[in-house]
Amino acid sequence: MSLLIGDNLVVSMHYTLSDDSGTVLDSSEGAEPLSYLHGAGNIIPGLEQALVGKAEGDELEVKVEPAQGYGEVRPELMQVVERAAFQGVESIEPGMAFEAQGPDGAAQRIVVKDVDGDNITVDANHPLAGVELNFDVKITQVREATEEEVAHGHVH
Ligand code: ZN
Repeated sequence: MSLLIGDNLVVSMHYTLSDDSGTVLDSSEGAEPLSYLHGAGNIIPGLEQALVGKAEGDELEVKVEPAQGYGEVRPELMQVVERAAFQGVESIEPGMAFEAQGPDGAAQRIVVKDVDGDNITVDANHPLAGVELNFDVKITQVREATEEEVAHGHVH
């Protein structure tokens, strides 16, 4: 008998994530499998939904649209800031990432998109926003979560 994936189960899996051009974005290969508590929103919704009803040993390919992944690119998260906002940084180049304070006061990762004199265009979108995600998944274990894990909403 094997447990079928559903709420309050801990799922461990190896995965490889690629974009539509086949570029590998992330992988658990060579590391421990990823473990998560199913039904607690620990992983992106599109992948979590695709795993429902699967069992230990199953292998599957899952394609996740941006809306069920890291969201669409939101233009309002791109903004132009003045160079003076980057105190202590000598040379600002496109592609550099910084931690900034978001509107809600929480730390936010921003990436420099464009440098035009003193005007710096930064992007606070998730790096995988707007990207179609292709997961290759192999489920290595499915077990019942402990009461404490369920109460905390994550795997211990
Ligand atoms: Zn905990």
